[in-house]
Amino acid sequence: MQFYVLTLFPEMIRSIINTSITGRAVKNGFLSLETINIREYSTRKTNRVDDYPYGGGAGMVLEPEPVYQAIRAVEEKIGHKPRVVYMTPQAQVLNQTKVEELAREEELVLLCGHYEGIDERVLEEMVTDYISIGDYVLTGGELGAAVLIDAVSRFVPGVLSNEESSQFESLQDNLLEYPQYTRPEIWHEKKVPEVLLSGDHNRIEEWRHQKSIERTAERRPDLLAGSYQITCVTAGGNESSLLGGRILRKVTRYGKIMDYNRRKLQKTRMVMEKDELLLLVMDESSIAGSESEDAIPVEERFRNLYGNDTPVILIYEGSVQAEELLVFLRSRGFLPLEPEKLPFSASEDEITGTALNIRKKTLQI
Ligand code: SAM
Repeated sequence: MQFYVLTLFPEMIRSIINTSITGRAVKNGFLSLETINIREYSTRKTNRVDDYPYGGGAGMVLEPEPVYQAIRAVEEKIGHKPRVVYMTPQAQVLNQTKVEELAREEELVLLCGHYEGIDERVLEEMVTDYISIGDYVLTGGELGAAVLIDAVSRFVPGVLSNEESSQFESLQDNLLEYPQYTRPEIWHEKKVPEVLLSGDHNRIEEWRHQKSIERTAERRPDLLAGSYQITCVTAGGNESSLLGGRILRKVTRYGKIMDYNRRKLQKTRMVMEKDELLLLVMDESSIAGSESEDAIPVEERFRNLYGNDTPVILIYEGSVQAEELLVFLRSRGFLPLEPEKLPFSASEDEITGTALNIRKKTLQI
């Protein structure tokens, strides 16, 4: 992934990014960082790029033309218009979903303001995204750009070693991570929780899930509103179960998967609640009328599945009649969100994209 940072203080960015994990990734070619000094595009002999604000007031404002020319230079170099992010306190605060979305770009241009900011006209013309790193004002955009590059880089393949990466971390499914412990077993008379020494993987996962919920409720209750207990129901050939599993693992650490080809499940009443999310993965072989032996009318297959204003996302393959299914789901107390169409042969990249779409949809509920 390539980052182009437009700044008056290139050394600020370089010194941070060329250190530690991101520094290693730059050296190994997984990331590239090019800093562009806006001053090089000054229209004046003095190399100045700022001027007094029209209408009076304190501070200086960066002129539009040098910023415009600096962005144009990047566009010419890469041969197309990239996403141009202006780091500013006047924007939505960066979060993990946005970070993951940005990590899917091949290149990003990050524009750092200084002093009182940048002339509005060039922002209107060139900027595609406005991002803040927090509700406070910094002296310049460089620290914000460095934060964004660091967070985005963690999702770029090859940047983290196996030991450094974990599939799920704080915030990815709107939960803070559970507390972590290492040796010694007893420290300052405090013992590591017993369950972590039990070797019972299921119990450990349950404990971690519970601790994540408690910690989020205590420290970031605002996040819990966007956090759903996710169940993935699959119907159809074996491939739909495989696809469901691949998606679920990218959306949440604590999801459940249920194969509705199993008669026993079809006979068991299940009522899902408002704070749950149903991912329904279906393919055409599961629909009545197809020649497959898995084909059963949906009314029959899901005769015991009910929602209670439960959001549902239909993920389907082939010629499944999505509209009819959504009407059925509505009649069962589910709230359908925009469905996702995905082939069984979906690449890792398509699965990541679908998982990201699912997360974005749940944030908008
Ligand atoms: N006058 C501006 C305002 O009130 O919105 C603040 C300008 S600030 C002093 C200078 C530059 O720092 C901005 O142009 C922006 O690039 C960067 N900056 C300041 N706070 C930021 C934040 N919270 N997130 C990202 N960038 C920020």
